[in-house]
Amino acid sequence: MIDLKNASKNTLFPLICRRTKDEYGSVLFEDDPVPTLIGIARLAAQSPTLESKRKVEYLELETRNFIGRASGNQMYFVWTINPYRGCEFGCKYCYARYAHEFMELRDPEQFEQKIYAKRFQAHSFRAELRKIKKGESLWMGTATDPYQPAERRYEISRKILQVLSGQRYLELGITTKSDLVARDIDLLSQIAEKNKVRVHITITTLDGQLARLLEPRAPRPELRLNAVKRLTDAGIPVSVLAHPVMPLINDSEASLDQVCQAAAANGASNFSAAPLFLKPCSQRVFFPFLNEHFPHLVRRYRERYEKNAYLKGHYPEMLKERIAKIKARYPMKTQEEPTWPIDDQLSLYNIK
Ligand code: SF4
Repeated sequence: MIDLKNASKNTLFPLICRRTKDEYGSVLFEDDPVPTLIGIARLAAQSPTLESKRKVEYLELETRNFIGRASGNQMYFVWTINPYRGCEFGCKYCYARYAHEFMELRDPEQFEQKIYAKRFQAHSFRAELRKIKKGESLWMGTATDPYQPAERRYEISRKILQVLSGQRYLELGITTKSDLVARDIDLLSQIAEKNKVRVHITITTLDGQLARLLEPRAPRPELRLNAVKRLTDAGIPVSVLAHPVMPLINDSEASLDQVCQAAAANGASNFSAAPLFLKPCSQRVFFPFLNEHFPHLVRRYRERYEKNAYLKGHYPEMLKERIAKIKARYPMKTQEEPTWPIDDQLSLYNIK
């Protein structure tokens, strides 16, 4: 612990040198020059503002590589694409908030308030695609939602699909909570002619009020189900993900059963669910949320998640059995293994 009152300027400056003057420097030392930012933090600081509404600010981010390599050990996919940095949906459990920390944006709320749209150039993206070998899978939306509100305006995900529609032998997965994905059925159908495509739509609950609390600016569950139907009617395979399952919030058999039943009724060909994991950056948002809306659960969540971000032991096993039982009630066209990497999502540190 540093004693701020008595510390010398030389002691403190290394601590602040990678942060913007607005965040720290001007408070500590009025005369200091703006500290030098490096890499993605520098690019983020230089990003021109595209638009600002309510508390959300949209910025444009220069990007050297659009396609990143997934670095976890148990990744189902090899490559990742995230057209935006940050996500306006603002899910209270979001695991991806850490991604803004790479840009020296330490306040976890900034993840949903400062949205960076990556500058897209079709020719560079096409060149990048050459690094993907036949059969290697590519996943869009591992650290942001590619169909969040910014997509209506900037259409970067659509531009990506336009390029992918000219490719072959790719395995493409898209994860979203937005019905906007159905806008791109034309392109997804074209891609599906020469590649494998699957859209994964997250629905954690059918209870609209609970969904609004948990995922404040994401489309309502019925809109997401409608997208499942439109996509599957068009022949695009869809999985419904009930991730994350939060103990005593959306984990009852009745709640999960409702989601699975609705997924099957709307044509989904897979359903999966995995327990919530909470890294420290997510805890900083989730625990105050619990305190406000589920105060009776705070102690139990803290006891479990402060020790370990992942639930171990009985609970994951119980949930696995519950999901298997529910899935058996609603046979889907194909019952594949879950495709989302349940244990290792946070190893996606090589975010592009
Ligand atoms: S949609 Fe995904 S990336 Fe966006 S806030 Fe929710 S969990 Fe995070």
